[in-house]
Amino acid sequence: MQAHQHTDISFAKHLDQTDTLVRYRKRFYIPEGTIYMDGNSLGLLSADAEASLQRVLTEWRILGIRGWLEAQRPWFWFAEEVGNMAAPLVGAEPNELVLTGGTTVNIHALVSTFYQPSGKRTKILADALNFPSDLYALQSQIRLKELDPQKELVLVPGIDGHTLDEDRIVSMMTDEVALVFLPSVLYASGQLLDLKYLAGEAHKRGISIGFDCSHSAGAVPHHFSEWDIDFATFCGYKYLNGGPGCPAFIYINKKHFHREPLMAGWFGFKKEKQFDMSPYFEHEQSAGGWQISSPGILGSATMEGSLRMIEKAGIEPIRRKSLALTNYLIALAKELLVDPPYNFSLATPEEEKRRGGHVAFYHPTEAWRISEALKAHNIITDFRTPDIIRIAPVALYNTFEEVWRVAHAMKDIIDNEEYKKFNTVRKPVS
Ligand SMILES: *Cc1c(COP(=O)(O)O)cnc(C)c1O
Repeated sequence: MQAHQHTDISFAKHLDQTDTLVRYRKRFYIPEGTIYMDGNSLGLLSADAEASLQRVLTEWRILGIRGWLEAQRPWFWFAEEVGNMAAPLVGAEPNELVLTGGTTVNIHALVSTFYQPSGKRTKILADALNFPSDLYALQSQIRLKELDPQKELVLVPGIDGHTLDEDRIVSMMTDEVALVFLPSVLYASGQLLDLKYLAGEAHKRGISIGFDCSHSAGAVPHHFSEWDIDFATFCGYKYLNGGPGCPAFIYINKKHFHREPLMAGWFGFKKEKQFDMSPYFEHEQSAGGWQISSPGILGSATMEGSLRMIEKAGIEPIRRKSLALTNYLIALAKELLVDPPYNFSLATPEEEKRRGGHVAFYHPTEAWRISEALKAHNIITDFRTPDIIRIAPVALYNTFEEVWRVAHAMKDIIDNEEYKKFNTVRKPVS
């Protein structure tokens, strides 16, 4: 690729003409006049997700309580069946996935089972760059065992404030560690960790390992079972486009189905005997055993349509296009945005295999006001404190031309000092 060539919009248009996933864009509701590059925070609504939600609403209207057994996809098994639909995205085997809970609730449900401090092994190894909610959950799980999180939660530090070194993580897997819990893709910098390598190293040392894959599921293929991951959870409203607050997924490796869910609830009971209403808990031997409450069928319904579409598109083609989009964004940024007076730098590792679905740019002084200025251009990205702008060109609904427009808008905002028009005070949701 010649330097001058890809900065020309005709090059972006050429890439769009060769895009094999282009037909999916039409199935999404893209906010009018907007370039939406925030699918790693909240994915967009598709006609497919809307149709499955509409069907469930109609079933409720017509069937009332009979929907639990008589709906087209009976609500009683909905969470397990939609879990199985997600299996190809993460390489799970039948019954290893269920759609349930929020991400943080699921971390509690999982860690309560997998964190069993005993003897010298009392610590949880996590990382200082993880999404804070995950770390809060780990701290309270340690307290529930009557231990001190200050001592027992060990955080691998970031190398440069943005990324982690896998070998450093492995070097901290000592014989005092009972559990390792890490993100697949770091929410701020977009670094993708090597899950297979980390799982192998943890197991060599007799340590269980789980992952929060909220920032990779639907963008990056995983092979949980092949890699022998013990457990995982991932959110449904990011690249899986399930809608605001829709449930997350739980993955349990089938070798652990016998273990005890320690945040028990009646929807985790043995499926065939749940309505015997026994006073004593016996869990279903599947990921479904870790459910707690009745599945929120309305909030889950979007996921059925959305997953059917993602599966049709295929997670491998999605990953290929996602990398092509982010490669293009990085190439444009190098050409246009890194030198003074622009001063952006890439917080995401450049190597493809170390990147998830979004690219994070660091700006030393004006990240917040630049992201506000992008909004004024009807470009939705997001800001993460203190100095990161995250841009997620999503394979199913973004184009190379949009990437071109975003990179050029960033350049214009600096050229014309547009960011200076915005208040330096941050809003409550960024
Ligand atoms: C999005 C995300 C969450 C969100 O947690 P909820 O409980 O669903 O609100 C948690 N952890 C990580 C790593 C995330 O990316």
